[in-house]
Amino acid sequence: MTTSTTSTSDPPPASEIRRVFAAVRRFVARHELPSVSLVAVTSRDPFSILVSTVLSLRTRDDVTLAATRRLVAVAPTVNAVLTLSEDRIAELIYPCGFYRTKARQLLQIARIIRDQHNGTVPADRDALLAMPGVGRKTANLVLGLSFGIPAICVDTHVHRICNRLGWIRSRTPDESERLLEQFVPKRLWIEINELLVLFGQQTCTPQSPRCSLCPIAAHCRRVGVTRSR
Ligand code: SF4
Repeated sequence: MTTSTTSTSDPPPASEIRRVFAAVRRFVARHELPSVSLVAVTSRDPFSILVSTVLSLRTRDDVTLAATRRLVAVAPTVNAVLTLSEDRIAELIYPCGFYRTKARQLLQIARIIRDQHNGTVPADRDALLAMPGVGRKTANLVLGLSFGIPAICVDTHVHRICNRLGWIRSRTPDESERLLEQFVPKRLWIEINELLVLFGQQTCTPQSPRCSLCPIAAHCRRVGVTRSR
């Protein structure tokens, strides 16, 4: 397939953003939600969502979902997690990536929530960012899915796809978040992660995206795409 690259980036008009979101929404509707979103729609519990988000880092979605369910089945609350040893948590969340580090972080997070936030997950970005293992991506996902607070969670898929579309030109997810906030309507800030994670896993994949099947190809500048299917 022929490719094109360009170094320009222009924020798209609102009408184009609406069309792209509508097309991606239709396209991914037949796929299962990402693991953290599934936890969010089934439990709505901020602590479970926070746990799932921490576990999801560098871990496949199916592994994240199974590990979250195992841990929450044994310890569904902050206090219940604090009764477990680090080894027991590691056993429950294995084979998540960095499961030993995450077991230690989950215990530290549970202690912080108990000691500094009266046992409830804070609906505050700075408070979340002060927890071990929680970066902007995690904090924004928790704010959006747990509390409905508009925040753009820019993970590797959102960063890659928005750059390929030519909507932004950025080197880091944090930079992407700042740029996207300037023109993506706020009502789409929570949804963008869920949509583009699924779209990035199925179609606009990191290596050789499936451009020939892409429902938004007409809107895409394919910036940096040198090989596609
Ligand atoms: S799959 Fe190809 S055409 Fe579709 S968004 Fe990704 S790079 Fe653009």
